[in-house]
Amino acid sequence: MNIAIDGPAGAGKSTIAKLVAKELGNIYVDTGAMYRAIGLHVLRSGIDPDDTKLLEAAADKADVTIRHIGDEQHVILNGEDVNGFIRNEKVSQMASIVSANGFIRRKLVRLQQAMAKETAVVMDGRDIGTVVLPDADVKVYLTASSRVRAERRMKDYLGKGQESPSLEELIREIEERDERDMTREESPLRQAEDAVLIDSSDMTIDEVVGAILKLAGR
Ligand code: C5P
Repeated sequence: MNIAIDGPAGAGKSTIAKLVAKELGNIYVDTGAMYRAIGLHVLRSGIDPDDTKLLEAAADKADVTIRHIGDEQHVILNGEDVNGFIRNEKVSQMASIVSANGFIRRKLVRLQQAMAKETAVVMDGRDIGTVVLPDADVKVYLTASSRVRAERRMKDYLGKGQESPSLEELIREIEERDERDMTREESPLRQAEDAVLIDSSDMTIDEVVGAILKLAGR
């Protein structure tokens, strides 16, 4: 059984998807981390992402794979485990910029579809229910207000002992990213027609996980 979870930045998709995957014995796949790896590669190469030719040439040289160690997903970029470098605002924005490129999307979608063919997955992203796994058994569109999402982001940073941007900055960053993800031409973020909408603003993690497991027949 494949489960697709889409939604805007910071809606809690990865936390929820990880727990649902554990309950169902599926592999958890965080597709955002793959776009982040390409974003990191582009940042490191120093090229201008608005130059499509250069961007696609750089992305072509980025070999992105996923490895699971325990229940943690690790993203490997050209042989290097980059998990420690992809969770910051710079990479978030660059991931959102590079993910608007069709060549990059096709490259990653192929990899994602191959993973889901090999094993049962709980996959989270922006276009999983609409493009990557249109035949997924359960589709969820998970959202929350931008303030709640920014507050969660801040908690994440502080919980990891990292410095956090201010709440206002985080709200701005989240809304900017949502706007770009929802209005791009290539696979914009939208709720699939057959996806169930879950607004987690006033729900606990357990409640959201419970709701999705119910949809999966548990
Ligand atoms: O989910 P996460 O915030 O890690 O994703 C980073 C960025 O990657 C998103 O803002 C979005 O632009 C892009 N993305 C995408 N399609 C996916 C997953 C992520 O376009 N399936």
